[in-house]
Amino acid sequence: MKVIVVGGGIAAYSAAISARREGAEVVVLAKAPGATALYAGGMEIADDLDAIVKTQPDHPFSRLGMDALRLATELDNAIPALALALEKDGMKLEGGWKSRGLYADIHGVARPANVVPATVAPGELRALAGRRVAVMGVREVGDYDAASTAQALKELHGIDAFAEEVSIPELPTGASVTDLYGRRAPAAPRGALTAYPPGFTGLLDGAFELLASPPSPHGWRLQQAIALSMARAEVTKLEAADGRVTSAQTGDRTQGADAIVLATGQHIGGGLLKDHVTREPLLGLGVFYEGRPVRVAGTRLQHLEYLDPSTGFRIGLRTDQRLHPLDEEGATPYRNLYAAGAVLGGYDYAGPCGFGVPILTGWLAGRWAARGDGG
Ligand SMILES: Cc1cc2nc3c(=O)[nH]c(=O)nc-3n(C[C@H](O)[C@H](O)[C@H](O)COP(=O)(O)OP(=O)(O)OC[C@H]3O[C@@H](n4cnc5c(N)ncnc54)[C@H](O)[C@@H]3O)c2cc1C
Repeated sequence: MKVIVVGGGIAAYSAAISARREGAEVVVLAKAPGATALYAGGMEIADDLDAIVKTQPDHPFSRLGMDALRLATELDNAIPALALALEKDGMKLEGGWKSRGLYADIHGVARPANVVPATVAPGELRALAGRRVAVMGVREVGDYDAASTAQALKELHGIDAFAEEVSIPELPTGASVTDLYGRRAPAAPRGALTAYPPGFTGLLDGAFELLASPPSPHGWRLQQAIALSMARAEVTKLEAADGRVTSAQTGDRTQGADAIVLATGQHIGGGLLKDHVTREPLLGLGVFYEGRPVRVAGTRLQHLEYLDPSTGFRIGLRTDQRLHPLDEEGATPYRNLYAAGAVLGGYDYAGPCGFGVPILTGWLAGRWAARGDGG
């Protein structure tokens, strides 16, 4: 069985490891980094699965037709498999989908996350209570101020934090946090835990990284790890015949496949294109908002997006219980096509399932594609 996964983000990665576990030959085609490379450094998997399936019928988890227990079982398998694969590819993670911590970003603001890089994990805010924390600053960096971060940690989270500033003379004045990427971490003060802005290497025990705001060193690292098993290529066309997608075209090359997983992301990834009406560019699949084709909602949707930008995050493909994408009439035009990740609509992809939806739907899509499970 040959499976082509189109996409270069966390959904494609999850689909690929799952399909390979089923024994499929897997080719991942990715044109460029997408939203995965922008994540802040904390993976949000899911909050309350029971509430999702009971109250959010359009959510990709609910559309799988599984109860909360079955979803939990699938996550129990998917998350450790993903963590193991990423560790082999050079990125160690900590946490699990049932654990939930709070981690400070470079401004000292707390963000929830279930799974984090091992370099972020020691900074879980509740674990910092009663500890003295040095916040490492770099004099030449203009878009991050360790003194303000330390103050925010104190005022917002009651942490005994202070700023410790060093100079990296080879940096230009007004450098950015991203200029620290890949540099060796300056020595930490004795006797305190040390919070570093993200991007340094060689952190010692008792040190941790803060979360980022985009562009994100955490996202770059993750993207580098997941890209190791991917081929750099843009799929320009998917050929179909008799209700099956038969091949993917990249440049002047056409590759046949028994099944295809579309993990092309939302607007940032390029899985959806925002013309006058949002559309799916490769097969013209149905694009929905709150269960209705976006074409029907028309310009009303643009007004809604203007009033509340998160409306746009909920736009996307709709799938049946086997992750086959639907056309606008609600039919499944292709038996061997599966969709996963942020290309799916029905949930806020910048919200509490930001990584949970791509990981779990990727995991299932990869398995079903490899088994030839047309449903
Ligand atoms: C700014 C920002 C910050 C975020 N921060 C967090 C966070 O801190 N925690 C969290 O849990 N979630 C966060 N999210 C959400 C999370 O990052 C996304 O939901 C998730 O990364 C989506 O993964 P994906 O693989 O589905 O899509 P993407 O990562 O967007 O990947 C889509 C991939 O498909 C490729 N592609 C598209 N079309 C083609 C084609 N024709 N041929 C080949 N390849 C193609 C793209 O190049 C890209 O590699 C954030 C989102 C954003 C936008």
